[in-house]
Amino acid sequence: MLRTVEPSRRHFLVGLGRFAAVAPLATSLPWALGGKARAATPPLACPPPSAWNDLSRLLDGSVLRPHDPFFTDVCRPNNLRYNTLPMGIARCLSTEQVQAALKWVQQQGLPFAVRSGGHNYAGYSSTNGLLIDMSLMAGVEVVDKKDGIVRVKGGTGNALVYKDMERLGRTITHGRCDAVGAAGFLLGGGIGFSMRMYGIASDLLAGTTVVTADGERRDANAKTDSDLYWACRGGAGGNFGINTEFLLRTFPAENVSVCQLKWTDNQADVLYKLLTTLPNAPRTFGSKINVTLPSIQQRCQGKGSEVSILAQLHVTKGQTLKDIFGPLWETATKVWVHENIPYWEGQDYLAEETYPYFYQEKSSYMQASRITRGAIDALFDAQRAQPGTSMPVAYKFFQTGGACNDMKADATAYVHRGNDWLFSVEMNWWLPTDPAGLVEENLQWQKDFYALANKLCSAAGAYQNFPDPTLDDYARAYYGENLPRLRQVKKRVDPNSVFTYGQGITPA
Ligand SMILES: Cc1cc2nc3c(=O)[nH]c(=O)nc-3n(C[C@H](O)[C@H](O)[C@H](O)COP(=O)(O)OP(=O)(O)OC[C@H]3O[C@@H](n4cnc5c(N)ncnc54)[C@H](O)[C@@H]3O)c2cc1C
Repeated sequence: MLRTVEPSRRHFLVGLGRFAAVAPLATSLPWALGGKARAATPPLACPPPSAWNDLSRLLDGSVLRPHDPFFTDVCRPNNLRYNTLPMGIARCLSTEQVQAALKWVQQQGLPFAVRSGGHNYAGYSSTNGLLIDMSLMAGVEVVDKKDGIVRVKGGTGNALVYKDMERLGRTITHGRCDAVGAAGFLLGGGIGFSMRMYGIASDLLAGTTVVTADGERRDANAKTDSDLYWACRGGAGGNFGINTEFLLRTFPAENVSVCQLKWTDNQADVLYKLLTTLPNAPRTFGSKINVTLPSIQQRCQGKGSEVSILAQLHVTKGQTLKDIFGPLWETATKVWVHENIPYWEGQDYLAEETYPYFYQEKSSYMQASRITRGAIDALFDAQRAQPGTSMPVAYKFFQTGGACNDMKADATAYVHRGNDWLFSVEMNWWLPTDPAGLVEENLQWQKDFYALANKLCSAAGAYQNFPDPTLDDYARAYYGENLPRLRQVKKRVDPNSVFTYGQGITPA
């Protein structure tokens, strides 16, 4: 909370300019990231103590400054590459407080960023100005029991969404990491094991409340502010305003079978078969394939690469996981298999636990018909060139298809329809264990591997919820043919780009 005693001198921080998304402090340190040193930028003046006191009054004291306990913990993002210290944190509890914080930060001429779960891959919820932290604005309530509509508050973490869904006996399309924020997840699409059955998460969005740059509260849905509603279904967080509520369609949570399988022999053959046969599986099936490459330490211990899959099947009569995998079931090591168990119990096995570290992700979309055995062999050859870091890395295939492809590409802002797999290659490292030069080499390998996979498998586009700061023509990659309409919506609700970041949507 904001203390009344303020430091007597003005604070200066490094910034890029008014409302501009900032370079993280760490990126100016080449050793820290393996990144290039940036040119010095002019200092940014901190508002006077009286202004901070005003903000604190507007937010009933819910403002943190750097001298407050736990400040650095509250503002630490999941990707430590972007661990930038803000001047202050406005911890909003209501739509009115969001409006007040937004007005204040514009009056001060400070850069700002909005944050819910802080899991943005590229640091777009980090700032050296005001961090508008939504995470205390959390909760889920039933709006319409008959139709299964729930209201999720704008800062709710996925953990709470899942707990409440379990309590209600319902589910949505959701991810594996419960520390991710519902806001970022929903606004950028939202993928998970149930997406082939229900569609991507933003397909389930029935309405949302947004505070736009002019401070207005807009209830956007199919009838009111319908273009803004359209844009919030895949147009990514941080572009159109601050979403303080989401209305979501939910489904009854039915029993599932779940498994993790792995293969260490004939890996290229296994991967090819998985990628080309699983798209024929029923919509009740969802999966994610990993090809995991060992860390340097694991290599010293003789560990090699491994193909594994996590899978979920909504139990319907006569279908089992074994039927779906066919002959591959017999050759797999069954890490675990749990048949016909309650939905949320199944998620306990599928969930991933993460902690903050350093990473970069690159993604694209693939159709199974374009994947050849030769392409997979070439990827296996190329993976051997990964220099390695102190952490394992993986390239992954999230199974799309099914209901993800039911909507037309322009039905919502989420354009990526008509594909079978979302491919992504990650790079993970830790500091100071991995020296800058090694990180650079690994990032170069990641770039080359990504280009190769895209070329060999005719992959295209990129998932806006896995933002990649090194991506060329990112706006086309994330939004494709929907970009012109998104820019029109931006022009209407935020013509001066009050909301902006490194890969933000610009007004038409
Ligand atoms: C470990 C991990 C696991 C993941 N798993 C999945 C997965 O299974 N499926 C999937 O689809 N994605 C997954 N993601 C990606 C994730 O969905 C996106 O990174 C998402 O945008 C994160 O949301 P957040 O609220 O946690 O992030 P933040 O960093 O808080 O926000 C993300 C973006 O949205 C903006 N924003 C935040 N809150 C609001 C708001 N209330 N109104 C408007 N804009 C806002 C921010 O400014 C930022 O630009 C994962 C990411 C990580 C790091």
